[in-house]
Amino acid sequence: MKTLRLILGDQLNHQHSWFARVDPDMLYCMMEIMPEASYAPHHNQKILAFFAAMRHFSEEMQEKGHRFIYYKIDDTANQQQFEANIRQLISAHQIQAFEYQQPDEYRLDQQFLAISNALGIDCTMVESEHFLTQRHTLHDFFKGKKNYVMEPYYRHIRQKHGFLMVHNEPIGGRWNYDTENRKTLKQDAELPKPLLFHKNLSHIWKSIENADIDGIGEVDAEKFPWPVTRSEALELLNDFCQHLLPSFGKYQDAMLANQPFLYHSRLSFAMNVKLLHPKEVLDAAILAYHNAQGTIDIAQVEGFVRQIAGWREYMRGVYWAQMPQFSRMNYFDHQRMLPGFYWTGKTKMHCMAQSISQSLKHAYAHHIQRLMITGNFALLSGIDPDELDQWYLGIYIDAIEWVEITNTRGMSQYADGGLVGTKPYVSGANYINKMSDYCKNCYYDPKIRYGDKACPFNSLYWNFYHQHRQLLQKNPRIGMAYRLLDKMSASELSKIVQQADEYLKNIEDL
Ligand code: FAD
Ligand code: SF4
Repeated sequence: MKTLRLILGDQLNHQHSWFARVDPDMLYCMMEIMPEASYAPHHNQKILAFFAAMRHFSEEMQEKGHRFIYYKIDDTANQQQFEANIRQLISAHQIQAFEYQQPDEYRLDQQFLAISNALGIDCTMVESEHFLTQRHTLHDFFKGKKNYVMEPYYRHIRQKHGFLMVHNEPIGGRWNYDTENRKTLKQDAELPKPLLFHKNLSHIWKSIENADIDGIGEVDAEKFPWPVTRSEALELLNDFCQHLLPSFGKYQDAMLANQPFLYHSRLSFAMNVKLLHPKEVLDAAILAYHNAQGTIDIAQVEGFVRQIAGWREYMRGVYWAQMPQFSRMNYFDHQRMLPGFYWTGKTKMHCMAQSISQSLKHAYAHHIQRLMITGNFALLSGIDPDELDQWYLGIYIDAIEWVEITNTRGMSQYADGGLVGTKPYVSGANYINKMSDYCKNCYYDPKIRYGDKACPFNSLYWNFYHQHRQLLQKNPRIGMAYRLLDKMSASELSKIVQQADEYLKNIEDL
């Protein structure tokens, strides 16, 4: 009995039970195909990182004795479609059964159901053995509830896996340290040096160029900074635990001009392609906390555990509970096109210029830049969530739909009407000025709402609440904004709305 086993580009799980023993009747296959490289305007570093990580995975597995067939993007035998390549292998190797791991994306899940039905041989989907929860866990957990609140789900996962728990109680006596974790940083702060791998991947970049894939953003294939092997991923994890974890929580919401990484782990790519398991990442951080003998406080490690055991698992659960309708949600019926500066970084708004240029340069922005700068501006300006999804899905090295769309439509754009977030994440310049040093060197004035050089975030913020009063004013979490709006004189409000209108009409010039 010969079985063909397919491994997708984000299923590079060295510890998967498939690889527990070498079986000569198993033929593994991996393929780089055009539809996957072009379904969104992917960042060049993202394409290169995926192909490099896939190629290394297949090489390492072959060194361990497993039989692999690998289609490179520019191989002449590559049919550039999953089904056509699979059929080709079935007939060339007298394959009698086909197996694949549970895809993380809805579109691929559907595609492989159809392929399985069409192949005419035994087909089996197995667990990807990666997450802390199952696809359906969140759906079952919140059965009968109108929205999904992250906090109880996070606590349930912590209890189930014993992360930072003692006698079924949270270590430190509290579940949540968010209030301590909102510190700001000064431009002259001494920041740790990021671990960048500087790996020469120019041979892989050449085959991407040969295949004419249209990518966006900068790439230096001779000095590639991201981890693309399991040992590099483990090195990055170790570096994080040693140098960044001690200040991770404190500064996780801070932003600084020309400092793209701060204390963030940059582990999302390695985790999303499954080079690292979330449990091993959390175990390493928790061990570092225990070994630090008081030099790492609980707020730092809890902040990190919350992101992975909480937000990451939660977003995946929301995705499987809500797809495919989630991808069509547009609560505010926003229709505006994404301004051109999202693709160039050329705007006078310094916070936007920094966050976008950095994304184009590094294929990376940290959470608060994604949420409170680029996402905030898009929501305040009424950008069509479809347009925005394409942008977030393309530009970031870690962007895979299950975690991109739930963060973008759900957390950032409130396009789901409050399924994920209890209120829209929006702010005027006040918040940005408090959490960053961007406003200091900006063309606009963060203190004013209208008039010459008034910061666009200010008028757009009040205009947003004004325009969406019907949809939002009953939300108790937004009461304060409406109370302030109601106290505003009619002429003040009219000037703000006029300013917002003018900015929106000339959005490309901002
Ligand atoms: P750190 O700050 O070091 O955090 C540690 C880990 O926690 C991350 O690696 C990640 O695995 C996890 N994490 C933190 N926040 C979240 C979150 N909200 N959802 C899920 N996991 C989280 N993350 C992606 O992995 N892929 C995406 O495509 C993606 N798109 C996003 C789009 C928007 C609009 C927003 C607001 C957030 C998005 N995020 C996405 C979540 C988050 O911004 C990134 O996971 C994080 O910035 C990755 O950088 P890091 O590894 O340095 O994270
Ligand atoms: Fe951004 Fe406004 Fe501050 Fe400029 S003034 S950096 S546009 S928030």
